[in-house]
Amino acid sequence: MRTYYCHTCDADQPHRPLNAAEAAALKERLGRRSVHEFWICEAVLDAATGRQCRNLRTGGNKKPFDPPIKLPVPE
Ligand SMILES: [Zn+2]
Repeated sequence: MRTYYCHTCDADQPHRPLNAAEAAALKERLGRRSVHEFWICEAVLDAATGRQCRNLRTGGNKKPFDPPIKLPVPE
């Protein structure tokens, strides 16, 4: 867990590395072999459902994608 600025929340928020399923989904989406530099925003946007922001950034780049990529919640 690390605190980073989240571009879509427009605030510093807790981020964590991607889990294996998320990394696999992002590799597929980007057509890349490695996505180890990405962090996902864990800010809770809806307290009732616990829905999280899930916006992606890297350690050094707060906005690596334009428009931003938010990983979908797995089924
Ligand atoms: Zn966020």
